[in-house]
Amino acid sequence: MSFAERAERVASLAAERDLDALLVGDLVRPGDSGPDAMANLRWLTGFGGTSGLAVVGREERLFFTDFRYVERAAGEVERSFERIKVEQRLVPDVAKRLRGRVGFDDAQTSVRALDRLREGAPEDVELVPAAGLVEGLRRHKDPGEVEAMAEAARIADQACEWVCERGFADRTEAEVALAAEVRMRELGAAGPAFPPIVAAGENSAVPHHESSERRIESGELLLIDFGASVRGYRSDCTRTFAVGEVGGEEREAYEIVREAQRAGLEAVKAGVGGREADAAARDVIEVARLGESFGHGLGHGVGLEVHEAPRLAKRSEDVLEPGDAVTVEPGVYLPGRFGVRIEDLVIVGEDGVRNLSGVTKDLRVVD
Ligand code: ZN
Ligand code: ZN
Repeated sequence: MSFAERAERVASLAAERDLDALLVGDLVRPGDSGPDAMANLRWLTGFGGTSGLAVVGREERLFFTDFRYVERAAGEVERSFERIKVEQRLVPDVAKRLRGRVGFDDAQTSVRALDRLREGAPEDVELVPAAGLVEGLRRHKDPGEVEAMAEAARIADQACEWVCERGFADRTEAEVALAAEVRMRELGAAGPAFPPIVAAGENSAVPHHESSERRIESGELLLIDFGASVRGYRSDCTRTFAVGEVGGEEREAYEIVREAQRAGLEAVKAGVGGREADAAARDVIEVARLGESFGHGLGHGVGLEVHEAPRLAKRSEDVLEPGDAVTVEPGVYLPGRFGVRIEDLVIVGEDGVRNLSGVTKDLRVVD
């Protein structure tokens, strides 16, 4: 889908909600909101910087940024947008240009930014909460987006292979995390999708462990959760390895998670609820009497952000649609002992999935 078509879609969704225009962009910490808060603006206009605001109405296509990003915007922002350099400050300058009923992303707008919008806008402007409108469109990945994510996944796969070949025993978690990150950049990634999680032994039982100076030892499990970023699009993959020979309990838990992951992958297709997909994997773990040890949802959407819509979880109301990019990542965590997680990134199709993660899921023994 071209950027012009995206703007077209946003404009018609806004019109359906009786909005004269929708504000998209930098309203969290105006002046520099950070890449995740800017994902909607990037998707809409192509702009990859961290400060900018777009106004999209039936006929209106305005893009505002400050002097730091004028050059970048000239190169990146879709031609149908009129590019405007703000004179003083982003939000007050944009506010002056608003007319009528204007939607804003109330999930990603700071109280201060909203105050400035209210103060700066003409009196007849009505600011209307409209969170989730762009995110709903962003769910469905077009072929160009899928290609970027597939490339990010390939790079992560290769980096995974590379760190495995170098071995784990006697290295620290942080060393392995850094090696993976550097390797992904060498292979062409703009950077990691998020700080890689490398978790050894009892640390693998902490789902969001921060890679530490702990030394990896032979005889324990090692969990690696990482991804690459390509043209703004992320990948997300987890594998759990045996460092040397591990015990029977670890192997057993691994096979249960693997079976649950297989069931989850089989369940994922267009028309299936996020709750049903979660249940398909969760059943396997519950039958094994480890239900209490699987404390998170089965998966989440991925794209310009690592966590986006839809959600695969116990209480998800989402229904999967073709073009959704989601993870399938069951896990079992035994506090103080060990954890296992296996995560693939897949594109949802009518009859099943296209799996972007290529690393083997047989329990691999690495020295
Ligand atoms: Zn992950
Ligand atoms: Zn994930």
